[in-house]
Amino acid sequence: MAIKVLKFGGTSVADSTAMRKVFEIISSNREDKQIVVLSACAGITDKLLKLSETALSQDNEYLQILEKIENHHLKLIVELFRDSEKSASCIKSVNFLLQSLKKLIEGVKILEEITPKIKAEILSYGELLSTNIFYQYVLSRGLNSFLLDSREIIETDNYHLNAKPNFEKIQQNGEKLKKLLQNYPIVITQGFIGNWKKETTVLGRGGSDLSASLFGYSVNADEILIWTDVDGIMTTDPRLVPNAKVIEKITVDEVAELSFFGAKVLHPDTIKPALAKNIPVKVLNTFNPNGIGTTIYQNNGITFESKVSSMLLIEDCFYLRRQVTKDSRDFSYYLNLLKSNFEKLFKFSFNDNTILAIVKSPKGSDTLNLLEQEEFLNQKVDAIALFGLNIPNIDKEEKSKLDYITDRISEFLESKLFFVVSDYSAILLLQPNKGKEVIEFVHSILFD
Ligand code: ASP
Ligand code: MG
Repeated sequence: MAIKVLKFGGTSVADSTAMRKVFEIISSNREDKQIVVLSACAGITDKLLKLSETALSQDNEYLQILEKIENHHLKLIVELFRDSEKSASCIKSVNFLLQSLKKLIEGVKILEEITPKIKAEILSYGELLSTNIFYQYVLSRGLNSFLLDSREIIETDNYHLNAKPNFEKIQQNGEKLKKLLQNYPIVITQGFIGNWKKETTVLGRGGSDLSASLFGYSVNADEILIWTDVDGIMTTDPRLVPNAKVIEKITVDEVAELSFFGAKVLHPDTIKPALAKNIPVKVLNTFNPNGIGTTIYQNNGITFESKVSSMLLIEDCFYLRRQVTKDSRDFSYYLNLLKSNFEKLFKFSFNDNTILAIVKSPKGSDTLNLLEQEEFLNQKVDAIALFGLNIPNIDKEEKSKLDYITDRISEFLESKLFFVVSDYSAILLLQPNKGKEVIEFVHSILFD
């Protein structure tokens, strides 16, 4: 029997409609053993953060926030359980959790102090609440399952709010989890939460993806499914290009590059533990469960024919050049200057006595003056970044498509060149504010 880890993010457990969808996904899979990892309901971790901050600053708003958290979960229960007896027993256990949260918060208020340890404890309540409710719902629907405290498996270091996993211990604890799976087809547990010597730790914001990867790692799972509210990783932003397509397979290196360029994809570091064990990770949509999704895998040195797999419009960029003469300062000076004055440095290179750089988002209001002082030619541009494996060796057919594109949109181009950024990306520069006009065309040539 295969072991699968299914991780559902905040929007997948946001309310009763979403939770029912999660239940349908789990109950329709009877062939596999399932480890179900849940996030907190959408927005709850933010509220818990705010709760601890307001209590610390003696702001009575904390009472309202506490009430909102309470109401959200009680409403969820009432909507989820049709049977009043079952909802009563769920309310009882949720109230117990809410009471202990309240005690912690009152402690913070009285002591006027919060330690990372206490804050981690407070933040963990979002996942404790969502898993508790979902577990009882699953039982009420007649599925045999076990509610596991993730702290039994996920051991970390003692950076309570941004804890790093202890892989060795997690691997050892995997034996416990495997035993549990012999007796239960479904184990439900929390994302985000870990422990250091019995103290609660959390893996950092958005840490549930990492949790899923770690649970997979601990038992050598056959597959990890990350269920979200989008169909997978897309060829480009579907809000800009309605015809954007789901990418069926992509390497983690391309995902890392996409994430570096600012795409909202899952953070590649979070799935590395799983990929290190060759466990495929798939991104799927809870609200469209029959979609194909995107499988992310590790490229073990195999070279693929190089095609563009996705693209991104990046606005608010600058194209910078500077002649370098004998008495110019050294490179590291210019490199550091750009790094410290822009949010992102996409490219920095040197050719024919010229420094060339592509940057995004100046950090300060006088950054552009500074560039002038430092004798950089600067042009505001829109950039289209293209991603793929082995981009410097793009295959012939793909290259001719790119040539066709640059010919057709030459009036919008700032430069005829594709700037190769790395093995996984290249940039095409357009005149400012022209990106939105041409992106659909570029996409249609590459992907339709
Ligand atoms: N609930 C946590 C957060 O909002 C962890 C997660 O959802 O991944 O950051
Ligand atoms: Mg998340």
